[in-house]
Amino acid sequence: MLGDLPEEEFRKALRQASDWVADYRSRIEQRPVSPPGKPGDVSATLPSTIPTMPVPFETVMADFESLIVPNLVHWGHPAFLGYFGSTTTAPGILGEILAATLNVSAMTWATSPAATELEAVVLQWLREMLRLPEKFFGIVYDTASVATLHALAAARESLQLDIRNLGLSGRSDLPRLRIYASDQAHSSIVKAAITLGIGEINVKRIESDDLFRLDLNSLKLAVQHDRSAGYMPLAVVATVGTTSAAAVDPIPEIASFCKAESIWLHVDAAYGGALALLPEACDLMEGVDAADSVVVNPHKWLFVPLDFSTLYTKHPHLLREVFSLVPEYLRGDAEQSEINYMDYGIQLGRRFRALKAWMVFSTFGETGLVTRIREHIRLARLFATWVENDVDFELLAPVQMGVVCFRAIVEQDSGDLLAQTNDLNRSVVRSVNATGRAYLTHTGLGGKVAMRVAIGNVLTTERHLADVFGLIKQELQKVSKFELRSGAVARP
Ligand code: PLP
Repeated sequence: MLGDLPEEEFRKALRQASDWVADYRSRIEQRPVSPPGKPGDVSATLPSTIPTMPVPFETVMADFESLIVPNLVHWGHPAFLGYFGSTTTAPGILGEILAATLNVSAMTWATSPAATELEAVVLQWLREMLRLPEKFFGIVYDTASVATLHALAAARESLQLDIRNLGLSGRSDLPRLRIYASDQAHSSIVKAAITLGIGEINVKRIESDDLFRLDLNSLKLAVQHDRSAGYMPLAVVATVGTTSAAAVDPIPEIASFCKAESIWLHVDAAYGGALALLPEACDLMEGVDAADSVVVNPHKWLFVPLDFSTLYTKHPHLLREVFSLVPEYLRGDAEQSEINYMDYGIQLGRRFRALKAWMVFSTFGETGLVTRIREHIRLARLFATWVENDVDFELLAPVQMGVVCFRAIVEQDSGDLLAQTNDLNRSVVRSVNATGRAYLTHTGLGGKVAMRVAIGNVLTTERHLADVFGLIKQELQKVSKFELRSGAVARP
């Protein structure tokens, strides 16, 4: 009962697990994308207390296969088209397995020199692919939410209000701080404001235009109004690739405004940053080099499995000013290098995330990344043409990335057309997902409920998308209580 599993047992289990991984990947298409169950179903099949005596790995693996796996949503399934797709890739899986084996912490350089140095190397590769100038210092976090939190903490520090030392509570000398972001910007900005003591109410949502881009004039008016009311702007957050429609805010204009007003500009390119790799699409990232900080998530569209988010900033000293805190017990290690990534964030222990990114970037190469992203855009545009050519559907946003937002439309209605069309589109998504043959999400765009398809999985092909579009049409006919324009309706 001491020590680890015996070596032979471990080898056998490892072979079993690696075969399972390869089989899972090659046969994933045969599985339902999502399970039919309800909350509590899985826990009801598991013991409520830890087994007193050791359970053989084979039994645990059998439970994993029979109780856990069938009750998962298979994000790596080629017909999983929810959120921002899935970045499962073979080199990413291998990187995760090896990182778990090493289980090192990249908190200081000395605690694992190659972990820190590989992180710096991968960040430099990515910075160059993103076409960001050398003055951008990078750091890896788990998620964009956490990266944005750190960027806004640095922005808060830039105001020289001595908040690290004195905090916020009980201070009458502080102005009200404001963060500006469009009504399409991600909720992580609000969460960062909550966490940093800025307050949810002080995230000023700026209206977006009919293409879901932040409206510059409204931003200018909001800042002007706030300044005259005695508020202090803390940051503007602009987005390249909004969550709902993958819209792109007018970054160059926002950057000029922020420069003139001396306001920190943070760009959330968590999803859209990947476009910087494509010569024909990198103009969508134009102006980002003028930002103070930018977040890009390789776990959204650069084929590195969850989690791997990168923050680049021109002001790393501010991150250090907020977060560097070296207790005596870490000093011996910390003193051995200039760069210790623990100094740039909340976390002390840091996973060796750079390993999987290095493996993905190396084995695919820049050309492999570019070709795959380009194919996803082609597929999204193709899907959009199917929508446009079908009288029962309409596109709700331009398609410039891997996201297609569209809705079913009905010919007739009784009463409130918008509400009924919205209900119908929600029902179609639910109905499609209930088949287990695809997974979509819905979103809201200008009051309209949109079905949303996000393409970013290396396994997704034209055939899968054609099947999914056929399935959407089939489920639409099933759930619609109204006549469709095509006349193809199965009235209940
Ligand atoms: N920013 C945008 C534009 C997003 O769409 C998302 C999530 O989808 C996030 C940030 C948050 O990402 P994460 O899950 O890495 O925190």
